[in-house]
Amino acid sequence: MKTLQFSNKDTMHCIGLGTWKAKGNEVKQAVKDALYAGYRHIDTAAVYGNETEIGEALAEVFAEGNIFREDVFITSKLWNNAHKEGQVIPALQQSLDRLQLDYLDLYLIHWPVAFKGNVDYPQKPSDYYSLEEVPIIETWKQMETAKESGMARHIGVSNFSDIKLKDLVSKAKLKPEMNQVELHPLLQQDDLLAYCRSENIFMTAYSPLGSGDRSEAMKGEDEPNLLDIETIKKVARKHNASVGQILIAWHCHRGTAVIPKSTSKEHIEENFKAARIELDETDMKEIAALDECRRFITGEFFEEPSKGYRDIYDEKS
Ligand code: NDP
Repeated sequence: MKTLQFSNKDTMHCIGLGTWKAKGNEVKQAVKDALYAGYRHIDTAAVYGNETEIGEALAEVFAEGNIFREDVFITSKLWNNAHKEGQVIPALQQSLDRLQLDYLDLYLIHWPVAFKGNVDYPQKPSDYYSLEEVPIIETWKQMETAKESGMARHIGVSNFSDIKLKDLVSKAKLKPEMNQVELHPLLQQDDLLAYCRSENIFMTAYSPLGSGDRSEAMKGEDEPNLLDIETIKKVARKHNASVGQILIAWHCHRGTAVIPKSTSKEHIEENFKAARIELDETDMKEIAALDECRRFITGEFFEEPSKGYRDIYDEKS
């Protein structure tokens, strides 16, 4: 398995298990299946509502004595309603308690958006703090404390554009070590990747398979299906692999991590085996040509009428 190595020599498996929308016993079993299949990297978030079940799975597997806490890289994320001064460390402690852990391997600011304390999902403009009211650096300073205290071995961000990252890097005492964003052949984000590389910030690809099981309400019109792209199917045939495996292997070859979500044992095992696929230059060139800056996670659910959601990604012209 390819790994990303942090400056302190900690490593993170290139392929991890995503868990958004996976709940209850299903996610508990998925985490166990993943660990038994060889995964050593699990991604969750406070807002996924599944940290408790993931914690139970981890505790049960660790108690068996064959896989140790220090072998598994566990990421969680700060939700948008705990960005203000004094809120980050308690939120992180809650995640640790639910996960039954003493430390996280990676803690991320989930979105560069701050909600008022009791708001899970905003309904109206007054549910948001403006960036002037709660600047990202205020949140980041608490993330730095999380790292300095050992509660999180690494800290980073998610859904940050290069504009927001550059600003944060210019103000931070401890640089973000990760930016977790949507990445796949239809959204390659070469410029963001180049910027992150230049600053030694790793990237993790989310929704690598097109985020299949979102509710219909969250899906855009005429959404393409990543699993049905002719070029990827051709590459898959050439390598005697599945389309999903090619979509996953592509990230390992680009040097990012990737966190496909699955609760199916068969998919979990299939996705992990993507690590064995060696894509060549021709494959990479053909896939590079597919980019169309197409997002599945548009950020629309954070739409603030006065601003427009595209502000989140700084894509507004
Ligand atoms: P993915 O792109 O990983 O797609 C998940 C879907 O693909 C599920 O329906 C799953 O079904 C299916 N699937 C899994 N493996 C295969 C396979 N081999 N062949 C065919 N279908 C397959 O979606 P997500 O949006 O969940 O992204 C992955 C992870 O990234 C999340 O779970 C989360 O951890 C993270 N994420 C982070 C975000 C952020 O803001 N930081 C935003 C979005 C995601 P089944 O379960 O039946 O296998």
